[in-house]
Amino acid sequence: MAERGLVALRRRLHALAEPSGAETRTAAFIAARLRACRPALVLEGLGGHGVAAAWDAPAGTAGPVVVLRAELDAVAVPETIALPHASRTGGIAHKCGHDGHMAMLLGVARRLAKVPPPQGRLVLLFQPAEETGAGAAAVAADPRLRALGPDWLFALHNLPGYAEGSVLTRPGAFAAGSAGLRISLRGRSAHAAQPDRGRSPDLAVSELIMALVTLPPRAAAARELVTVTHARLGEPAFGVAPAQAEVLATLRADDDRALATLRRRAAAAARAIARRHGLACSLSWEEVFPVVWNDPTATALVRRAAREAGLRPARPRESAFRWSEDFGALANLGRGALFGLGAGRRHPGLHAERYDFNDALLPTGVDLLYRLARLALQEPPAGARPSRTR
Ligand SMILES: [Zn+2]
Repeated sequence: MAERGLVALRRRLHALAEPSGAETRTAAFIAARLRACRPALVLEGLGGHGVAAAWDAPAGTAGPVVVLRAELDAVAVPETIALPHASRTGGIAHKCGHDGHMAMLLGVARRLAKVPPPQGRLVLLFQPAEETGAGAAAVAADPRLRALGPDWLFALHNLPGYAEGSVLTRPGAFAAGSAGLRISLRGRSAHAAQPDRGRSPDLAVSELIMALVTLPPRAAAARELVTVTHARLGEPAFGVAPAQAEVLATLRADDDRALATLRRRAAAAARAIARRHGLACSLSWEEVFPVVWNDPTATALVRRAAREAGLRPARPRESAFRWSEDFGALANLGRGALFGLGAGRRHPGLHAERYDFNDALLPTGVDLLYRLARLALQEPPAGARPSRTR
């Protein structure tokens, strides 16, 4: 398909930007375009607004089920740069490039309309709510997706800061797992002149912040991280010694077991501090992302596809990216790999207001994903996953 056609498609998706979990028009737009490419089946409403389409080998030639994934959602960043295809949704824009990832998969769909897979089944999956970490798990739990029996799963993400067209991947931990912890503390309010008659969470909040940020063992500094992202004590007033406080923190690790330990220790620290200060404490976990763990064989296929496409496979600078991606929840259905496609060393960063997807990546991405899918279709069904040790 001509590059210009894909660029126009990408920009229409950009203008349609919708927030996580509310991708109705984007999903309908995608489903209509997939149907035009004559798939064997289309699934809608997967784990929310997810859409998938499958193409089968002629005469059902046996082979594995290969899934390529893109994301439907935009992010809560306003469109402040002048673009002819600017987002029409206030406060929401495609500042992560998911519009570009979707356009790439639609490019693959158009190739499949002309040449079906040589064996097995190729599934193009458009997943909702990636940014909140809810979408991949919801799609993975959908019995209709499970019934497809995915063997090999792949997704790419454009990566500003890396040479345009470089392909970044590595076996093992690729992106950190993370979990958001919301800690609510409750004591008793009093007049600010008589704080001793109440029970303010003030000291508990300061102790909690110290305890949380110093939680990762020093030896694990590069692999574990706790960031306090928000703290609130009482109301912005001078007359009251407050009763309530809330602290939000994001915990990260490049290993699911290490993350589970970090979560247990953070919860225990919060409860102990609340108890010491005579405060009620409630904890909730939100936006939980498992570690994206790249299967070695799947990773080797990505590197081979990159070389065949004339691109340069490279290892990312970070041992595991500290950002999180919910692809891990999908990859666990079979064997999979997430990889980066360099968007240009000076391209504005993901989630920055100045960011817009680099359209030059569209033909590169289509070619790479198509080659990768065809290589994976030649593999035997994935079978048991190798053990995850770092
Ligand atoms: Zn993204």
